[in-house]
Amino acid sequence: NEVVSKNFIETEIDKDLAEGVYDTVHTRFPPEPNGYLHIGHAKSILLNYGLAKKYGGKFNLRFDDTNPTKEKTEFVEAIKADVKWLGAEWDDRLFFASNYFQQMYEAAVKLIKKGKAYVCDLSAEQIREYRGTLTEPGKNSPYRDRSVEENLQLFEDMKNGKFADGEKVLRAKIDMASSNMNMRDPVIYRVAHMTHHNTGDAWCIYPMYDFAHPIEDAIEGITHSICTLEFEDHRPLYDWVVRELEYPQPPRQIEFAKLYLTNVVTGKRYIKKLVEEGVVDGWDDPRLVSIAALRRRGFTPESIQKFVELCGVAKGQSSVDYAMLEYCIREDLKMKRSRMMAVLDPIKLVIDNYPEGEVEYLDAANNLENEELGSRKIPFCKELYIERDDFMEEPPKKYFRLFPGNEVRLMHAYFVKCVSFEKDENGNVTVVHCTYDPETKAGSGFTGRKVKGTIHWVPAPYAVDAEVRLYENLIDEEKGVYNEDGSMNINPNSLTVVQAKLEPALKDVKAYDSFQFVRNGFFCVDAKDSKEDALVFNRIVSLKSSFKL
Ligand code: ATP
Ligand code: MG
Ligand code: MG
Repeated sequence: NEVVSKNFIETEIDKDLAEGVYDTVHTRFPPEPNGYLHIGHAKSILLNYGLAKKYGGKFNLRFDDTNPTKEKTEFVEAIKADVKWLGAEWDDRLFFASNYFQQMYEAAVKLIKKGKAYVCDLSAEQIREYRGTLTEPGKNSPYRDRSVEENLQLFEDMKNGKFADGEKVLRAKIDMASSNMNMRDPVIYRVAHMTHHNTGDAWCIYPMYDFAHPIEDAIEGITHSICTLEFEDHRPLYDWVVRELEYPQPPRQIEFAKLYLTNVVTGKRYIKKLVEEGVVDGWDDPRLVSIAALRRRGFTPESIQKFVELCGVAKGQSSVDYAMLEYCIREDLKMKRSRMMAVLDPIKLVIDNYPEGEVEYLDAANNLENEELGSRKIPFCKELYIERDDFMEEPPKKYFRLFPGNEVRLMHAYFVKCVSFEKDENGNVTVVHCTYDPETKAGSGFTGRKVKGTIHWVPAPYAVDAEVRLYENLIDEEKGVYNEDGSMNINPNSLTVVQAKLEPALKDVKAYDSFQFVRNGFFCVDAKDSKEDALVFNRIVSLKSSFKL
């Protein structure tokens, strides 16, 4: 008996369906192909796709590529891959806004014919001056009362390349005294002699976003055009466009709050700077929250779906803690992944009473909480690796791991008791010596005595070497994203690289494979840098967190 709660968009949709405004739900995700998608976009994708699915409607993927200055085909492919990976299916409904340029042109002509648009010769700066301020109404452009015939001719001349960039624009004729600045005769078409990634040099005039977007939605039969809050006061213009163009079933814009993560950079401008300055190794650096970066780090689509669900959909701006994203991936992988042994900071452990050259194969369940994952054999022998901090020469109180005279369990294996250790000339411990008790083999039912500590290990002669990358937030959490001088406040410890020893079952891993390394966290094979004979793992997340749902 789960409580079914609806977000405010669903409430609006229910109302529209009940009142017969629409008889179906058709949504879209409209990225501009000018960069990589990030976690915020994931929210928009899953929200739009989820609504279409929930109401048995349709979902479009539409590239909003009406601005030739910033758009590249390279991003189109990357965005498609990300949307697909997240689990949103557009089937055969992949569209490009630039394929509607002819219809948009005709729509502009229609407005001119209705006396609702005019060609204006004011410069961009003059247009700004004439627009007025929030407290003062604007002034009409001296070109506002051109005849329909003159406007039609001039607009055609604009299209035919008779004017230079900025020389003339087409403006909607609305209301220069409107309290909404967006309604003060907004520019809807501009001249730009530029090559477009899709239409090449076919056009030298391009529509502005506020004019193009409602037309794109209307052409595709979108019912609910969901966008973020900064477009709220553009909605009257959206409604004006679809009304004046007399679409029989005009789409409706609904705004929701953007997703922000605490202390995480999502802005393209800043990520670009981090990439250019070499702070990160590209848009998919595992410390970033682009979809590509999250995938490379080892996040799953399910974990991101869960995260977006937990964030909810709201009208008010808020920030979500990165720890919640970590919680979601930990919960997702806990039961699904094998729990392997990997030593991140190795020192040798020698079992003095174990026969030289002998090896036995011990059974280890892959995940004690999920039998379906099966088991594996781990070779056990005289020389092992353990974590450096699992031994202390002089332990503090409550330290239950190895120290001279103390006994611990080696996971899946035997009890061992520390008998001595060796140090190098700098005083660092290099080898720990112990003896083992054959009676205490794991699974043998031994109950003779108990130990308080269990540590993991890797058999030295069979160990697989791997580079392991440990991450912290890119931004120093204490100090916030920006310094007082506007520079970014980068955490100097955001990446730590260690040379680890892994158990031999991990020898043949492939890109994106992920595992729990017991006591150390969840790890994923790096898709960019890992090679068959030079493995690289990313730590997705450590095992513990203070985050509670
Ligand atoms: P950015 O500048 O961060 O790339 P954008 O708004 O320019 O964001 P678009 O490609 O225009 O990116 O956005 C595609 C869709 O994703 C839009 O509908 C937009 O509202 C939505 N979107 C962008 N950022 C977020 C966010 N942080 N949270 C939720 N939705 C977002
Ligand atoms: Mg964008
Ligand atoms: Mg945008």
